[in-house]
Amino acid sequence: VEETLVLVKPDGVARSLTGEILRRIEAKGYSLVDIRMLQADRTLLAQHYAEHEGKPFYEPLVEFMESGPIVALRVAGNRVIEGFRSLAGTTDPTTAAPGTIRGDLARDWGLKVQQNLVHGSDSPESAQRELALWFG
Ligand code: ATP
Repeated sequence: VEETLVLVKPDGVARSLTGEILRRIEAKGYSLVDIRMLQADRTLLAQHYAEHEGKPFYEPLVEFMESGPIVALRVAGNRVIEGFRSLAGTTDPTTAAPGTIRGDLARDWGLKVQQNLVHGSDSPESAQRELALWFG
């Protein structure tokens, strides 16, 4: 069965939305396999966001991601990688569809980085790489 890495980003934890996000994942029928709360360091974030290095939002993104605790989830289910991205909604919370995590619960705060509550792996290769990073 397929697995994906989901992160409840620091804004999600700070706004006490971890339970609501977990509820949506479980209500959809996906299984929670592992869960871990941690403060991510630069080394981990640099590896996680290696593909974005050099982009204008990279530094603010890393600073945001190290600003507070993150909840990392290993989630399993048939086509869960695609399915979770659909639950999450598109990157920009202003235009993410209502009914999605970002569309219902996130908004644009006018900051340098999109504080969009969650991350989900975008392919089987990323899922494997990211699960190894966050769960060892
Ligand atoms: P999605 O692919 O659905 O956007 P993602 O989290 O995988 O989700 P990435 O493109 O990998 O998105 O970007 C990582 C994160 O960087 C985003 O979730 C967002 O927080 C931030 N980000 C991405 N693009 C921008 C941008 N143009 N301006 C500000 N922040 C951005």
